[in-house]
This record gives sequence, C-alpha cells and structure tokens, in this order.
Amino acid sequence: MEKNVNITKDSIKSVIQDFISTSSLNSLQNGTDEPAWDQALVGLASGADPIWQQYKEYVGAFHWTPWEVFNQHCPEQNVSADQLMVVSWVLPQRKPVRKSNRVSRNYPSEEWARIRVYGEEFNIALRRHLVEQLASSGHPAVAPMLVPNWTIVKSERFSYASSWSERHAAHAAGLGTFGLCDGLITAKGKAMRTGSIVVKLSLKSDPRPYFDHHAYCLYYSDGTCGKCIDRCPARAITPNGHDKEKCRQHLVRSRKYVKKTYKFEGYGCGLCQVGVPCETIIPVKTAREALKSGKLPPPPPPLA
Ligand code: SF4
Ligand code: SF4
Repeated sequence: MEKNVNITKDSIKSVIQDFISTSSLNSLQNGTDEPAWDQALVGLASGADPIWQQYKEYVGAFHWTPWEVFNQHCPEQNVSADQLMVVSWVLPQRKPVRKSNRVSRNYPSEEWARIRVYGEEFNIALRRHLVEQLASSGHPAVAPMLVPNWTIVKSERFSYASSWSERHAAHAAGLGTFGLCDGLITAKGKAMRTGSIVVKLSLKSDPRPYFDHHAYCLYYSDGTCGKCIDRCPARAITPNGHDKEKCRQHLVRSRKYVKKTYKFEGYGCGLCQVGVPCETIIPVKTAREALKSGKLPPPPPPLA
C-alpha cells in the first residue's frame, strides 16, 4: 500500500487475499503445491465498540481492549478508542483437509496437523504483512497475538484464557457466533482459523447479524444437534459446554501421535469441527437466511 492512499475495507481485503494467493508460506509443506488456505472472510469492528468492555467483564480484566493493546505498543500515537479499528479474518479449512479429518476418530489427519502448524505459521506471517502494509500507508497497526506480552492466564470461569482472543475479535467484527464446543461458527462454517490486527484508522464497522453469541449453533437455538459431543475423543464436550482442560490435555497427547505417525513436530485435533452440521455452513436456517438477506433474524423462542 502506498502512503496516503485511501484505505477502504476492500483495499484491506485485497492485501489479505493477495497475500493468500502469492505467499510461498501458504503451503501444507508436504512436498506438493497444495496451499494451506483459499480465500478469507474479513470483518471490521470499531475500537470504541462497547463489546470490548463487555469482554473484559465476561472473560476477565486481563482481556485487552483494542485501545489497551494499541497504546501499549504505539504510545506515541496517543489515540482514542474511536480512532482504532479491529480487522479480523477467517481462513476456512479447505475441502481435502476437512475430508481427511472427518474420518479421524482419535487424533488429527496429517493434513489437519500440518494446517495447525504450517497454516498457523502462514497466519502469523499474514498478521505481520498486514501490519507492515498498513503502517507503510500511514496507519500504524499492532497484531495483538504477536506482541511479546500476550499471555495465557488462569481463569476461574474458563479454566484459562488469554489477553486477546482471535475468535472473540471475529465475533465482534460480525464474522460468527460460538458453538457448544466453543468453536466459532461462521458463514463458511466452524472448520477455520482466525486472525486479527488493530489499526489506527476510521472505517465503518460491519454489523453483527445475530442477537446473541450462540445464535448460529443448533444446540443453543433449538436444543437439537449436539453432534460435536460424539465427535470429541476426549469427552471434553457435554451439554454443559466445552472443558478446555480436557481438550488441552488431548492436544498434548496428540504431539506424540503426530511425531510418530507423520514424522514431524506437530499437534492438533479439530475432530469437533468436521463431520458436524456446522462444518461449512451456519446450520440454523433462520440465521443463515438472515445473513444472506442482510436483515436481523427474529429472536429465537425461549427453550422449554
Ligand atoms: S455440532 Fe451442533 S451442537 Fe455442536 S457446535 Fe455445531 S451446531 Fe452446535
Ligand atoms: S473439544 Fe478439543 S479434544 Fe474435543 S474434539 Fe474438539 S479439539 Fe478435539
């Protein structure tokens, strides 16, 4: 991006899509030409959106607002919250990767484990690239997940949580809502990874086309489904939600499996993200149709 060019959502989207199309890092790194990712969904949220304060109250005081993280790392800019935007993106898993993990019963397929490692390396590079591109056009930016003081802390409510959650940023930017398994269900489904940056820029925020943070999950919307419960080899998902600690322990065990079976240092699981109704779509029909039409769906009736 050149200095003083007019930055729009479309120009940001182009930087992201161009990097996905051209970066040599967008690779499964398995000796083929297979990319890790195709195209991304992109959403914007204002740094002054009240949702960031709500996250602080719900997740914990340690969860940064965009203003906090930006001002820690660019204090000389002396900005107010309404001068900041969060740019969030969703990288949907590609069909062959999803297909391979659908048949997994305990540990991830090789493709899925490669995405967890090499796909995320690309996602890190994408955050850096966007920060550099925006900064070079006169808009300083920060990638909260990449700052040295980003950390994971113990949380009473969630067992552990971090100073910045990519999925929460995506939710704020109108990109999706949470499922029973805690994954974010987006217009391209739940099999995906997310990323975000905070930038000094004023643009229009994207609307959040949902009434609550569970609107796209069948279990929360009408009490049906629960397919992710059966998919989880660690019994980490129940009708009460997702047990992060059980999930984490399974991911630790997966390291040994990945090294022994696929001969590289990796890990992963994601079995609850595939072979379920929310793998590639929003499974709640009214919510899916509302998103297409651009109108808010009617609020769901209370569960009996
Ligand atoms: S599999 Fe069903 S219950 Fe689980 S997150 Fe998806 S829609 Fe919700
Ligand atoms: S909840 Fe964790 S352990 Fe269970 S299927 Fe999902 S990623 Fe795997």
